[in-house]
Amino acid sequence: MLKKSALLLCSIFLLTSCKPVPKTQSDTHWYDVMPRPSWSAYRSIDTNQNWFEVYQLNENTYAIYEPYQWQEAISYLLLGSEKALLVDTLQGIGDLKTVVDQLTSLPVIVVNTHSHFDHVSGNYQFDNIYGVDNPFTLENAKGHDHSVNAGNMTADTFWKNVPKDFSANTYENKPYKISKYLSDGEIIDIGDRPIEVVFAPGHSPDSLILIDKNNRMMMTGDSFYPAPLYVYSATSSFRDYFNSVQTMRKYQDDVDFLLPGHNETMQPSTYLAKLQEATLAVQDSRTPSTIGDNATHTYQYEGFSLIVKKPLDY
Ligand SMILES: [Zn+2]
Repeated sequence: MLKKSALLLCSIFLLTSCKPVPKTQSDTHWYDVMPRPSWSAYRSIDTNQNWFEVYQLNENTYAIYEPYQWQEAISYLLLGSEKALLVDTLQGIGDLKTVVDQLTSLPVIVVNTHSHFDHVSGNYQFDNIYGVDNPFTLENAKGHDHSVNAGNMTADTFWKNVPKDFSANTYENKPYKISKYLSDGEIIDIGDRPIEVVFAPGHSPDSLILIDKNNRMMMTGDSFYPAPLYVYSATSSFRDYFNSVQTMRKYQDDVDFLLPGHNETMQPSTYLAKLQEATLAVQDSRTPSTIGDNATHTYQYEGFSLIVKKPLDY
């Protein structure tokens, strides 16, 4: 149902990417499902950067969304009484800093749900970045030259509204500095709004989730979104993902909404139980799957699917 299911047809496999690049078919486009209807539930905020769409999710929470590129990446701006927390910084296309400055004058802390390029490439615009002391994170913080992600920025990954000063031919990921290392279980208090950091490796070695109990929200990054979930790259671990999903499930009663890193926002937290069931079913050899390239197996569930590599590292 979701257009991302077409990913099974993909042949390009890039280790630094969350998603492979779509394979173009003459009669369909990945953006045929756009705009996704679920976004219309939220107030759209005009900014002077039309590369991004900005939506107000509640009084003190904004989603900053890139609907015009295949990744459909989403970052979140959480406002406290003293500081703002920017969760992920998208792909480095467009001027994210200007958008953030329009939304708040509070000092901004950046936290990345993980260091894949489509979540950290705007980091270079910010000077207060909390990160994980993990070799994967530290390597990605050095940035990537054009060759690494050129395949993720091909013409068919764009739809419209590409900023005039952007060129896919020179696209690169700029380095950034981590100013503070995060601990598992740490609380970041941005003023009357404690945000709990929970390490959740699996999709990547440095994945984490953020829990905002006051607002009953969980920022899930790529550990959950309502589309195919990727736990098959060379740096993914199903074993770690399974354990992280058990941890996420424990918070289901504390949150109503999951705020994912791609496609759609404010998903019901009941997905956590379904995700837990899915990670258990994947370990049962009787559960049907679709076998793809590179020993990948896709397990389809209502609203999402799970792509793993066999044999499982379990
Ligand atoms: Zn990712």
